[in-house]
Amino acid sequence: MTILHNTPTADLQALDAAHHLHPFTHGAELAQKGARVITRAKGVTLTDSDGKELLDGMAGLWCCNIGYGREELAEAARAQMLELPYYNTFFQTTHPPAIALARKLAELAPGDLDHVFFSTGGSDANDTNIRLARHYWALKGKPEKTVFISRHNAYHGSTVGAASLGGMAAMHEQGGIPIPDIEYIGQPNWWAEGGEMSPEEFGLMRARELEAKIEELGEDRVAAFIAEPVQGAGGVIVPPASYWPEIQRICDAHEILLIADEVITGFGRTGNWFGSETWGIRPDIMTIAKGLSSGYAPIGGSIVSREVADVISKGGEFYHGYTYSAHPVSAAVALENLRIMEEERIIERVREDTGPYLARKWATLTEHPLVGEAVISGMMASVALTPDKASRAAFRAGAGTAGLICRDFCFEEGLVMRHVGDRMIIAPPLVISREEIDTLIARALAAFDRTQARLEAEGLMEPA
Ligand SMILES: *Cc1c(COP(=O)(O)O)cnc(C)c1O
Repeated sequence: MTILHNTPTADLQALDAAHHLHPFTHGAELAQKGARVITRAKGVTLTDSDGKELLDGMAGLWCCNIGYGREELAEAARAQMLELPYYNTFFQTTHPPAIALARKLAELAPGDLDHVFFSTGGSDANDTNIRLARHYWALKGKPEKTVFISRHNAYHGSTVGAASLGGMAAMHEQGGIPIPDIEYIGQPNWWAEGGEMSPEEFGLMRARELEAKIEELGEDRVAAFIAEPVQGAGGVIVPPASYWPEIQRICDAHEILLIADEVITGFGRTGNWFGSETWGIRPDIMTIAKGLSSGYAPIGGSIVSREVADVISKGGEFYHGYTYSAHPVSAAVALENLRIMEEERIIERVREDTGPYLARKWATLTEHPLVGEAVISGMMASVALTPDKASRAAFRAGAGTAGLICRDFCFEEGLVMRHVGDRMIIAPPLVISREEIDTLIARALAAFDRTQARLEAEGLMEPA
């Protein structure tokens, strides 16, 4: 066996630190503490190299919607590898898994979204969207429509194009991004930025920043607005109910494309197949990845409207594509994943049973002294930690200090929960049971208690 099974944790960590450059990781801290080594998983439970079990409150990175260890997906990959392990879809070529998956996605996607351009993940799909939208407008005789409007604290991926589309300040400080012609408006984060406004007033105000930005730039310059129906990596920011209808109105009133980045919200996360359905959004382009294959194989794409597809198709050759666009093994795995999601009515269960159950439990977290707001959309949720609920204050210690302490206590309690600054976030596998939800909540509360004790002991409960 060339894979390092049954190797002691310390040896794995030393080798890892010696040779593996990690994404989104502080290198020196990693070398000092050693990486957490995950070796196996089943259902919603991870096992690490010391045999410790963790309830995965994040479904990996928001992707393992169907849960771990589904043999049918392994069988689908095996069968496809034996039949046709690889072929491309360039130069007028295709293969049955690509055809079947494109048809299935056209059937599932709302409205007239019925053509798919495949990628290997969400970042490269958003890069596709940049080129596709600009090319679309050029073909329509409006080559000056090149600007994308996005939002501060949006996450659209990590490639040069996708990280530019994203609004993550820390990412923009590294590597010479954003690229030109990306503009940003404010995010609908009422807790942190809503001040004295009601959430509904604030939602309208933030949506109207889009109209102001379009007017400032000139409609003839704007290609598209891109947004996540619910911001994920930004901290599971659930927008006020007033937000999306106003955004949709503005997009309808102006000749721009609306791109819904559904990489997290797609495939059941919000209780419908797509977040666009939950939030009443009618996008022209939808970015998909993550839950499409439940993370079992890398695949993503852009689902585009018939009109966009028509213009691109009639416009000659689109000089764009990835070697692994519509990879047959990934496509076969995705098809099997979608088949199981339908057959086992997993999304209906989220919408009608486990989602509302989690929502009721999640709301009770605000009874904890540390928890300001608790918000949820389907199976993605967050709480804001605060030293003072009434004023919605941040901690004087700086964003992320309390969150990191809490994250580490969660691990000790056997729960993977991420922190974004001082928001604690979850997005568990959609197959999580009521009993497992109870366990998740109990472990989160235990971690909040320990966090509060630590913050008090260290004098960190001071508001900013
Ligand atoms: C994860 C994510 C991406 C990037 O997807 P990758 O597969 O990591 O490239 C893009 N958009 C959103 C909303 C995401 O959450």
